[in-house]
Amino acid sequence: MLADNLAMVQNKIKEALAKRTELKVTGDAVTIVAVTKNHPAEIVTEALNAGLKNVGENRVQEAQHKKAILPAGGIWHLIGHLQKNKAKHAVELFDIIESVDSTEILDRIDKLAEEANKIQDVLLQINEAREPQKSGLSPEDFVALTGKLAAYSHVRVRGVMVIAQATDNVEETRPVFAAGYRDFLALQKIVGKETCNILSMGMTHDYWIAVEEGANEVRVGTALFGARDYSQKF
Ligand SMILES: *Cc1c(COP(=O)(O)O)cnc(C)c1O
Repeated sequence: MLADNLAMVQNKIKEALAKRTELKVTGDAVTIVAVTKNHPAEIVTEALNAGLKNVGENRVQEAQHKKAILPAGGIWHLIGHLQKNKAKHAVELFDIIESVDSTEILDRIDKLAEEANKIQDVLLQINEAREPQKSGLSPEDFVALTGKLAAYSHVRVRGVMVIAQATDNVEETRPVFAAGYRDFLALQKIVGKETCNILSMGMTHDYWIAVEEGANEVRVGTALFGARDYSQKF
């Protein structure tokens, strides 16, 4: 069943790549991050066995629980809002923190990574849809933060993460993803394209639109694993 679902997602990505109307600097290899949140730990093993290499979790505690009982393996992405008091564990647990949404949290990650003797990969999350209740840097705060990146010694800014608005008309997400692509280009000019090469946009309800607009990473849960069980406690 996972194999079928994965084949379907891969096929839809392939179709989206073919529909691109211009060449994108992000290239045409799209990484699928398997979003395993609110699923039991074993689903991570299933995902890795199916050939997926990247897993996404939105809560530090849940990832900690799963990593403690799973054999080592996989590239772990934090995709949910990170609270300051969880940052230390996040730096220990995650290969990449996609949800950097303030200067303060980036300061904190940089300091903790230095203490841990680690270079922490991060993405800057931008609230391109300008949804007041959602996390992510405003486009203005994103620009302000890009001016300060030279001050950080223990984070490597790998790119941009965008979450589109929930909508019944998926076409409405297109301008949001297009804005993400433009901001990614601006960031790449500052950081350099060797380091800054990940544009993480799109989830189950809109990943093909994101790929058409330039995403080279999509974060997909439901389309791979079915509905989440929110009664599951970690
Ligand atoms: C849960 C989540 C996803 C995956 O959502 P699906 O709709 O199940 O694909 C992707 N990105 C983020 C940030 C999430 O929190």
